[in-house]
Amino acid sequence: MATWDVVIVGGGLAGLRAALALRGLRVAVLSRVHPLRSHSVAAQGGINAALKNMPQAADDSVERHTYDTIKGSDFLADQIAAATLCEQAPRTIYEMEHWGTPFSRLDNGRIAQRPFGGTDVPRTCYAADRTGHHLLQTLYAQVRKHNITVFEEFVVLRLVQADGRVHGVVGIDLAAGSIVEFAARSVLFATGGYGRVFRNSTNALINTGSGIAIAYRAGVPIKDLEFVQFHPTTLFGTNILITEGARGEGGHLKNAAGDRFMSEYAPKLMELAPRDIVARAITTEISEARGFQGGYVQLDLRHLGHDRIHERLPGIWEIARDFARIDACETALPVLPGQHYSMGGIDVDVEGHSAISGFFACGECACVSVHGANRLGGNSLLETLVFGRLTGEAMSRFLAGCGQGVDHAAIASAKAQIIDQIDHLARGTLNAAGIRDRMRDVLSDNVGVFRDQESLISARDHLRQLAYDALRVKTDSSTLRFNGGLITALELPMMIDLAMIICEGALGRTESRGSHFRTDHISRNDKTWLKHTIATVGADGPQLQYRDVDLSKYEPEERIY
Ligand SMILES: Cc1cc2nc3c(=O)[nH]c(=O)nc-3n(C[C@H](O)[C@H](O)[C@H](O)COP(=O)(O)OP(=O)(O)OC[C@H]3O[C@@H](n4cnc5c(N)ncnc54)[C@H](O)[C@@H]3O)c2cc1C
Repeated sequence: MATWDVVIVGGGLAGLRAALALRGLRVAVLSRVHPLRSHSVAAQGGINAALKNMPQAADDSVERHTYDTIKGSDFLADQIAAATLCEQAPRTIYEMEHWGTPFSRLDNGRIAQRPFGGTDVPRTCYAADRTGHHLLQTLYAQVRKHNITVFEEFVVLRLVQADGRVHGVVGIDLAAGSIVEFAARSVLFATGGYGRVFRNSTNALINTGSGIAIAYRAGVPIKDLEFVQFHPTTLFGTNILITEGARGEGGHLKNAAGDRFMSEYAPKLMELAPRDIVARAITTEISEARGFQGGYVQLDLRHLGHDRIHERLPGIWEIARDFARIDACETALPVLPGQHYSMGGIDVDVEGHSAISGFFACGECACVSVHGANRLGGNSLLETLVFGRLTGEAMSRFLAGCGQGVDHAAIASAKAQIIDQIDHLARGTLNAAGIRDRMRDVLSDNVGVFRDQESLISARDHLRQLAYDALRVKTDSSTLRFNGGLITALELPMMIDLAMIICEGALGRTESRGSHFRTDHISRNDKTWLKHTIATVGADGPQLQYRDVDLSKYEPEERIY
């Protein structure tokens, strides 16, 4: 069996950027879909960097970007890590531009920047409202140019580790219909978010979070999973994202009385307050009967005019037409919050190192942590590229100093475990998709924008039962070729793991901070809770420990917008 220097699981922005930093080594990129179908492709609004290209941003700076990020995080971000993200931002934009990303431009030829949430300077670079699409195309072209090997339609199910070191991965090659192992001296997970553990999510259907759960089961600590971002504006009925760029371009949020209700919640930044604040405001308007029948508010773009909507927000106009049969130039859009982003993830440092030697993570599946308790819009695309590169470079240094071979017996044993698991499914009785849907309901109904002890305990009890049921699911067919039902059954216990970690973390954290809002503990408690939650596998579900936040740059202060 060939041994790879690096196996990268994930063909989104983070995985591809890391691959480019590792060119010259024996690198394999594995992805469950064609790389260009990774969720990164769906990113709309833009990517942040203090380029100072707009007249209103003349006094913007890396320092200010860093401060906005830390304040936006409700002071849970590690401050040196956030500073690294923001320092690396300008060169990252120019690198992508030189590789060919068609950023939207000003008349003077400079890259245009739009206002986004959590800051009062326009700092978000964009390519109309299809930024992720263009960035991913750009990186994929570079990956092809450098002949980096990509295995697509390959679902990874196990991370092989023994003696505190990584040895490879095992999964299913969907097209060949076989179980395949990859022996590797180092492994990088860039597997994206877990949005689909919730019922209402903007995420692609492939975003099951299995990468995070595979790492957890292999003994890697998971950080801050209770911090789940709910995006304020998803299309009523489908939860398709309506980018923050729509508010950045000047869109207004209105309740059923026609009031711009954000004046009650964030009088200064209004619609451009950070996402946690806007999502809570909308949820409050709806629950206090100031929303529209059915449970939504309106995002009004009409005053922007036909030309601006079609130039800056063409994708949003099309989404409104295709999925709500609305002309956004004529009618306000019905919107409500939906799960959008995973602030927490695999516990790593700024170079992607995890607790297991040779195992690294970057992108949305990782938690560095730069977003803390709430991510600012436009900082996640940035994170994938900055930490994709830094992690790739760190892996290259790691490999230069690592001479050991891989443990083939450990790989064979992981493969045997998957075969056993599939055999076991042939003898089950319960329906996997049904249990998965119940898990989504439990999480969405009890661990959403607002939480309290009673709902969290009820969710935990339900999830324990569902974890038990998940061991008894059956598959109608055990063929390995493109068998979606089998993959659902194999991933179900992993999704429940993540749901349990989110729920336990939320139950443990008796305060409100960023996206985590406890109606029974409504204040932020800096005395006790300037801490990251670290989850590992315990005897009876996740076991939690806490670690201090790095506060070396700024003193925490009250978050007023
Ligand atoms: C609709 C939407 C719009 C967004 N807009 C913005 C925006 O404007 N600005 C911004 O900053 N952020 C935005 N975000 C967030 C941002 O796009 C993501 O956080 C980021 O693109 C994630 O990139 P990634 O490379 O970490 O993961 P992804 O792009 O999600 O890629 C994950 C990869 O891992 C692979 N994979 C996963 N599990 C497995 C497995 N078990 N086996 C094999 N392969 C696997 C997948 O096939 C995929 O290739 C948006 C997110 C969404 C959902």
